[in-house]
Amino acid sequence: MKSKINSIFKEKFGKNGTLYASAGRINLIGEHTDYNGGFVFPGAIDKVIMAEIAPNGTDKVRVFSIDINEFAEFGLNESDAPAQQWARYIFGICREIIKRGGKVEGFDAVFAGNVPLGAGLSSSAALESCFAFALNDLFNGNTIDKFELARIGQSTEHNYCGVNCGIMDQFASVFGKKDNLMRLDCRSMEYEYFPFKADGYKLVLLDSKVKHALVDSPYNKRRESCERVAKTLGVETLRDADMEKLNAIRDSITAEDYFRAKYVIEEKDRVLAVCDALVKGDMETVGEKMYETHEGLSKDYEVSCVELDYLNDIARECGVTGSRIMGGGFGGCTINLVKDEIYDNFIETAKKKFNEKYGHEPVVIPVVISDGAHKVLD
Ligand code: ADP
Ligand code: MG
Repeated sequence: MKSKINSIFKEKFGKNGTLYASAGRINLIGEHTDYNGGFVFPGAIDKVIMAEIAPNGTDKVRVFSIDINEFAEFGLNESDAPAQQWARYIFGICREIIKRGGKVEGFDAVFAGNVPLGAGLSSSAALESCFAFALNDLFNGNTIDKFELARIGQSTEHNYCGVNCGIMDQFASVFGKKDNLMRLDCRSMEYEYFPFKADGYKLVLLDSKVKHALVDSPYNKRRESCERVAKTLGVETLRDADMEKLNAIRDSITAEDYFRAKYVIEEKDRVLAVCDALVKGDMETVGEKMYETHEGLSKDYEVSCVELDYLNDIARECGVTGSRIMGGGFGGCTINLVKDEIYDNFIETAKKKFNEKYGHEPVVIPVVISDGAHKVLD
């Protein structure tokens, strides 16, 4: 990827620039916890967006996307927004830096990536944080702190791409560190690195390639359930609840709200348990908690679907250490923690069985926990 970007940059702009990269992310555990003030536990992966960039001394940005094979040129004023969706991410980063009093001047860029698009690995956050990191380095002497870089990416999604996302994806992409997962407290925004040295294990995603079209905005309904229960309990978010408190009000809330809140409360504790287990090197417990999360998402939170439940069943049958839905649900991927010695058998079995039942194989995406945004040195 590096040499291809280098040679295309040279060909288009007749000079050399500086190389930057940032990564997509996984979330090992902690699903639907962010809007409840709980914990998430992401890590950056070895799938990246890489860009070569050089200031061009004008007030225009000129960018070539290798993967889309398109060129975009735009100015840096609010009215200069480019038409292409992919270029709006870059324009948004420029604008959000400028809005915060940072400096962005014209530049030339060529970029490419290998983060699968729309597979739940957050290729958009990788793109945003690659450019946010680069423009901080090139024009701002790295004076913008890392959290602000993540927020610049998040605001880009909100204000220029129509996606009302939380902070986890950009946080993971900016802060990611090789062989480390990060526990982010979505209430205080405090975070802590946990070494993830899964010797003898692989992490692999199975993308079901299904996305169920949903009629009645289930995400909002889940949020509303959580907010209702928090209100009944007299706490700000379910972060401040526990099962004892929840059981004490069980008769005054609907069964549906009870099970939604139960999942969220248990999931908060599971993230903490997984962190403890990792510190002890106890991968069996890590895996057990992943299965519990799947069960909770499927039965209590009801955001699974038959295809994802089937992938989870196959994982269990094959003796996979841990497996669960990753992401919001209703389709997308499972994330699997698999012992090296059963890996090949698991992948073959999952492909075969899933294909027999649903007419196509899941897409296999092995991932390694790697660095987030950084300057690429030779
Ligand atoms: P994801 O879940 O992967 O973040 P999104 O729909 O949020 O999916 O973001 C995908 C968008 O990000 C693409 O439509 C494109 O505009 C941009 N993008 C991601 N990767 C690339 C790439 N390699 N080249 C150009 N644009 C990209
Ligand atoms: Mg995205």
